[in-house]
Amino acid sequence: MDRVKARVGGRPPLSASKGPAFPSSRPLWAPSAFHVMAKPTGAICNLDCRYCYYLDKKSLYPDDSFRMPEHVLENYLRQMLESQTTSVVRLAWQGGEPTLMGLPFFRRVAALAEGFARKGQRIEHSLQTNATLLTRQWAEFLAEHDFLVGVSLDGPRAQHDAYRVDKRGTSSFDRVLRGLGHLRDHNVRYNILCTVHCANESQPLELYRFFRDECGAQFIQFIPIVERESTDSGVRSDKVTDRSVTPEGWGRFLVAVFEEWLSHDVGTVFVQSFEAALASWLRLPPAICVFARTCGNAVALEHNGDVYSCDHFVEPRYLLGNISETHLIELVSSPKQRLFGEKKRSSLPRYCLDCDVRFACNGECPKNRFISTPDGAEGLNYLCAGYKAFFHHVDGSMRLMADLVRAKRPASDIVSIFAKSPRNAPCPCGSGIKTKRCHGS
Ligand code: SF4
Ligand code: SF4
Repeated sequence: MDRVKARVGGRPPLSASKGPAFPSSRPLWAPSAFHVMAKPTGAICNLDCRYCYYLDKKSLYPDDSFRMPEHVLENYLRQMLESQTTSVVRLAWQGGEPTLMGLPFFRRVAALAEGFARKGQRIEHSLQTNATLLTRQWAEFLAEHDFLVGVSLDGPRAQHDAYRVDKRGTSSFDRVLRGLGHLRDHNVRYNILCTVHCANESQPLELYRFFRDECGAQFIQFIPIVERESTDSGVRSDKVTDRSVTPEGWGRFLVAVFEEWLSHDVGTVFVQSFEAALASWLRLPPAICVFARTCGNAVALEHNGDVYSCDHFVEPRYLLGNISETHLIELVSSPKQRLFGEKKRSSLPRYCLDCDVRFACNGECPKNRFISTPDGAEGLNYLCAGYKAFFHHVDGSMRLMADLVRAKRPASDIVSIFAKSPRNAPCPCGSGIKTKRCHGS
C-alpha cells in the first residue's frame, strides 16, 4: 500500500475496500497470462447499433448505475497485475461504450495501473470504442499513455450507417471519422474493427481500400455478424436474422480481401484473420481465440466486478464470481472455467475432427456452432462453408509464406516469388492456374 501511495503521488488515496488477497499459492491451473475484456459502463452505449449483442445485457442488472465504482476499479487493476507472470500486461477496455466513463476515469486507470505494476511489468492499454465521443483532449491522453485504440467502423458511409446508428436512428459515420481524425492528428495507435454483415459482405474491396487508403489503417480486424433468431418462447433457433452475414458471403469476403492484401500489402497492412492463419500454417498458436483449440483465457469483467467465462457468454450460467469476493486468478483458473475452455475442443463434431483445415479453424467460436453436419450431427459452425472455402483458397500462399518465415525471410518476399515465376508455369500459390493468369497477372 505504501509503495502504491508513494508512486501515485497527489492522487486520491485508495478506497477502504481492499478485496480478496492473492492466494497463498498460485492455483495449479492458472495461466501465465490471460485476457480480460473490462466493461466499465456495462452494456451502456451512446449508439444503438442494430446488431449489437451486448446492449440487452442491461437486463442482467436492473436499476443499476452501470458505472464501475472506485473499489471495483482498484480491485481489478491490483488483481490483474498480481495475476500475470508475463512482463507485458494488457489492459483492455470495452463496452458498451467505455469513453462514457469520461477522461477522469481513464486518468485514474493509468495512474493506478502504474502504481500497482510490479518491477519489470510493462502495461499496454487498449480501448475499443465507437470513436464518436473522442476529442482532442482524449487523443492527447491516449497518445500520452500509448493506448492502442480499436475504432468500430463498418466501411464507407452507406455500409457503416446501415446498422451503426444512434438512439434516434441517425447516422454515426461523420462522428466516427471526426474521432478517428483526432487519433490520427495525435499519432495515437489505432486499428479498425469492421463487422461484416449482409449490408457490406458483397463489397470487400471497397471496404478494405477505404480503410487502407482513406483511413490510413495498418491493422484491420473483420468480425462476422451472426445473429440467431429467437422463437416466441425466447429459445434461440438455428435461423439467423436478415442482418447476418451468409457463410458463403463471409468466405468470398475473406478471399477477396486476401487477394488484394497479397498483391499489395503483405508486411505493411496487418489483417488479423490472415495473421492468425499464417500462425496456424507455422503451427503456432493463433493470436485470436476463435481459431484456438480451446477457450478460457479471455474473460469478461462487468462494471460491478462480476466475471463471466467470455464476452460472448455473459449469461447467469457462465458467471464465475465477483472480484470483490474471489481473486481474479482463482476465477480464471476455476474448474468451471477450465471446463468451459475445454468444451470448445471436446464438443467438436466428427465432421470437424476429420476436416483438413481444422488445424487453422478449430471449429471457430462455439457461439456460432448451431447447425448440423451433412450427416446430421449437431454442433457445426454456421460459418463452416465460408471458412472451408477461405482456408482452402489460402493454403498454397500460406505454405509459401510459412516457408519464408521459417527461412527467416519476410513473408512479403512472396510478392517477388510470384514475380519471378515463369509466366506459363503453374502459379506458386498452388492454384493450378498459369502464373500469368494468377498471381503474375
Ligand atoms: S467462446 Fe468464442 S469468443 Fe469466447 S473465448 Fe471461445 S472462441 Fe473466443
Ligand atoms: S472448416 Fe468447418 S468442418 Fe472444418 S473445422 Fe472449421 S467448422 Fe469444422
